[in-house]
Amino acid sequence: MIYFDNAATTAVCEEAVAAVNKGLQNFGNPSSLHRLGLDAELIVSGARETIADALGADPSEVYFTSGATESSNTAVFGAYKAHSKRKNKVIISSVEHPATANAALALEEAGCEVVRIAPREDGRFYAGDFIDAADENTFLVSVMMVNNETGYVLPVSEIFSGIKKKDRTILTHCDCVQGFMKLPVKVKKLGADMISLSGHKIHAPKGVGALYLKKGVHLPSLVYGGGQESGFRSGTESVPLIAGFGAAVEKLSPTVNERYKKVSALRDCLVSKCREKGYTVNSTEDASPYVVSIAIKGLRSEVLLHYLEKKQIYVSSGSACSKGKKSSVLAQFGCAAVSDFTLRISFCSDNTAEEIDTLINEIANAENELAKVR
Ligand code: PLP
Repeated sequence: MIYFDNAATTAVCEEAVAAVNKGLQNFGNPSSLHRLGLDAELIVSGARETIADALGADPSEVYFTSGATESSNTAVFGAYKAHSKRKNKVIISSVEHPATANAALALEEAGCEVVRIAPREDGRFYAGDFIDAADENTFLVSVMMVNNETGYVLPVSEIFSGIKKKDRTILTHCDCVQGFMKLPVKVKKLGADMISLSGHKIHAPKGVGALYLKKGVHLPSLVYGGGQESGFRSGTESVPLIAGFGAAVEKLSPTVNERYKKVSALRDCLVSKCREKGYTVNSTEDASPYVVSIAIKGLRSEVLLHYLEKKQIYVSSGSACSKGKKSSVLAQFGCAAVSDFTLRISFCSDNTAEEIDTLINEIANAENELAKVR
């Protein structure tokens, strides 16, 4: 099988599987005072240290969650809860993942003003557009690092430093799900108060993620209970999943640059073969190489996706955000005309140039075998 859907989820790496098993065997409750509890707590704190280290953060700034959706919801609703008595404006990019976009929508329905900054006509985001939109009423600016449909890299550090210069009380949140362990993500450089991470996009299991919360930023808790995660996110920690998350980060963290180079070569290979065949490449040259959005005009995404699936090649249809529900992201990036024909090819460093050859050959076969639509 050829797996080119790594932006959707990734195969769990051996190291993470071993760590999950260890976490299952150490079945103690991390809050228990006896030896079994302590062993479990050591697993959790080890993973926290690894993730903090990868981010250039302090372990006390990393809180485990059930995934990036929970992390981003915590950031958006937590910021609202912290500021709603005085401020009611949120600024987001128009291409956020639903984890942020729909949380912002819920705030809008509750009476907040939500400003959605779109790319300009050239398909690019400009930091000034976010900074200009911020005013004394703004309590949160949330901008993703890498767009999950096109790989576009938003100018997050520039946006956040401009926002903080304007008003340092405005909270900044970055969804780094498609950037973490792929591009360098360091909290100092990014300048975010909050960062959302997900385990299953980086070869760890599903159902675990983290929220980085900068020291000194006070966010009210959304989950009340036994006071785990320093009282911020109650609920007994999922020791096995957290262990798997930590192991995946420990494995990937030292090779971010090396893998980036390898995946860039794969992206270049795919892009040049697409150009030779006359296929459209929606992703810009400076996008993250891990996500390449292409369009084969006349071949509908879903039809081609299922054709490729029969050949054991797994890709994503670029315009579907969840189960066929159309997203507006491609249109936002100026690709509306090809959105019905778009495929998202998303890599991990285990993919090879031979796999790209097979993909391109099978797309060419599909062009011959399947009826084209206008
Ligand atoms: N943000 C981005 C950019 C994503 O790609 C995803 C997953 O698709 C999420 C957030 C949600 O992550 P999780 O599945 O961990 O809730």
